[in-house]
Amino acid sequence: MSDAAVRAQALERLSEHLRGCTRCPLSEGRTTVVVGAGDPDADLLFVGEAPGANEDRTGLPFVGQAGKLLDELLAGIGMSREHVFIANVLKCRPPGNRDPRPEEIDSCRGYLEEQVALIRPRVVCTLGNFATKLLSGNPEGISKVHGQPLPVEFSGVSVTLYPVYHPAAALYTRAMLGSLQEDFARLPALVAGESPAAPAEPHPAPAAGTSDGTATRTQQLGLF
Ligand code: URA
Repeated sequence: MSDAAVRAQALERLSEHLRGCTRCPLSEGRTTVVVGAGDPDADLLFVGEAPGANEDRTGLPFVGQAGKLLDELLAGIGMSREHVFIANVLKCRPPGNRDPRPEEIDSCRGYLEEQVALIRPRVVCTLGNFATKLLSGNPEGISKVHGQPLPVEFSGVSVTLYPVYHPAAALYTRAMLGSLQEDFARLPALVAGESPAAPAEPHPAPAAGTSDGTATRTQQLGLF
């Protein structure tokens, strides 16, 4: 059996185990554990925050509006879900989509570490603050670090960490969509191991507080 097949089997065993996880109280309120989905041998791993209501119901990551945008962003760089693996920091839905709590992240991080160790991606594209802070080990917010590749070691695997805004943030704050598209455009070169061209013009961080209150909402969601 090839090395990739062995790792894919181990990933499946991890998924089985995860489906019965009771490590933290989020297990009591979940409908489904959202393990992650995609190519178990992908060069590109996306890490989001946590399942929402749609994901909790279906067991699949990013199936709501943010997922639709993620699909569009992938299509924009000639990719689809089958080419990548999509996971989250938390595998169970926090009630009311509240922010993940530190103790929940601590309980769940071992699973993400195992996923990274088994998939062995070249590039880990973190979607939003929670995934970025967890993988970088740095408290710097996404507005400062998005679009900047960073070599890191996570779970004994050397990867290029590539933080981008969370697609849900771009849904709430359209000013972020341009940044997200621009950052996405650099992904293929990163995955190919090339150093991508710098963005034409750095985007300023979107203003906090808009007339419709959307930025305030995204800040509450911890997406900045
Ligand atoms: N937001 C996330 O961070 N993950 C999902 O799976 C869905 C929405």
